[in-house]
Order: sequence, then C-alpha cells, then structure tokens
Amino acid sequence: MTERKAKAVPPGRYATLVREQLALIGEDPDRAGLLRTPERVATAMTWLTRGYHEDVRSMVGNAIFEESHENMVMVRDIELYSLCEHHLLPFFGRAHIAYVPAGRIVGLSKLPRIVDVYARRLQVQERLTEEIAAAIDDVLQPRGVGVVIEAAHLCMMMRGVEKQSSKTITSALRGIFRSDPRTREEFLALARGRSTTLAD
Ligand code: ZN
Repeated sequence: MTERKAKAVPPGRYATLVREQLALIGEDPDRAGLLRTPERVATAMTWLTRGYHEDVRSMVGNAIFEESHENMVMVRDIELYSLCEHHLLPFFGRAHIAYVPAGRIVGLSKLPRIVDVYARRLQVQERLTEEIAAAIDDVLQPRGVGVVIEAAHLCMMMRGVEKQSSKTITSALRGIFRSDPRTREEFLALARGRSTTLAD
C-alpha cells in the first residue's frame, strides 16, 4: 500500500486563493457576509482532505486480534462523505464491508475509520472502493474481502446531467469473494439488504 504524505494546507495562502476565487465568480470578497469565508473554506478543506495525513497501519494500530472465527464479518451502512476529484464537489453515501478472516480479526470500529482515511481525499468512487479493499487485504490478510459503495454525486445532481435520484454503485472483491461464487453471492445479498436512503 502506498501512502502519499501531503503537507498541511497553509491556511493563509489557501485563504488568499479563495478570496481570488470569490472575485473571479463576480463576488465582492469585502462584503460583510464573505469577509471570513476564505478562512472558513481553508479550514473546511483541510478537514475534508485530512485523509492525506492519515495512514491505515498506524490508525489500526494494535486493534488486530488472533481469532479462529471463520465466517464472514460484515459492517453495513457505513456513512461516507468524499469529494470528487473532477469537480471538487461532494459525493456521499454508504459503504458495506465484509471479510472472511484467516486467523485474525480487526476491531469493528476500525472499518469505518479505514473508509474515512480514503474518503477524506479527492476521489473517484471506483478508486475509493478499491483502496478500501486493498487496505483491509493488506492489514488483515483475510481469506477474502468485499466492499460495496453506493453514493450520490452532487456533480451529477446539481450540474451537468442533473440526475437527482441516480446512485452509483461500485464493488471491489478480493480472495474468496472473487473466486467462490457462494461467498460472493452471500456478500452481495447482504450488501443489497434492506433498501437504504442516501439522505438519512
Ligand atoms: Zn464530479
């Protein structure tokens, strides 16, 4: 797994850019409502892209336990928020993650945190799905791992094709999730599960 380390956003410089951006779209950066917007945007972008400064191995730490459990472990409906790298607009939805252990399990609360390490970067949904699966494969070396993400993209909803109700579904399957049809079917059926509403 390659972890790219980015430098922290220098807030002053970023705020200067946002100020210029406001002027470019025809706004007056000096009007009262916008005076502190550049700093707020700089702070928000730092938060929304914090995944660049996080690394799965140190985040998982020692939350890996020897355990002989051999059946599928699944966490459904993990909320995720990310930014599309093409438009810097949000996409958001849910991830469903499952793995079949090979002698080791991970603390369940770590799975949503692994999602965030990669979601809090500029992303395309396909790569996000693969990166989460690869990270779990790497730290746990399970018999297999499956990740399904269903998300709504604001760049499709509020611009371009303006498809407000379309959802994009991506999956990444490794190990027996790919090689064993029964495991794959069990996972995909569990991932489909009950119907989910992206907005709630
Ligand atoms: Zn986009």
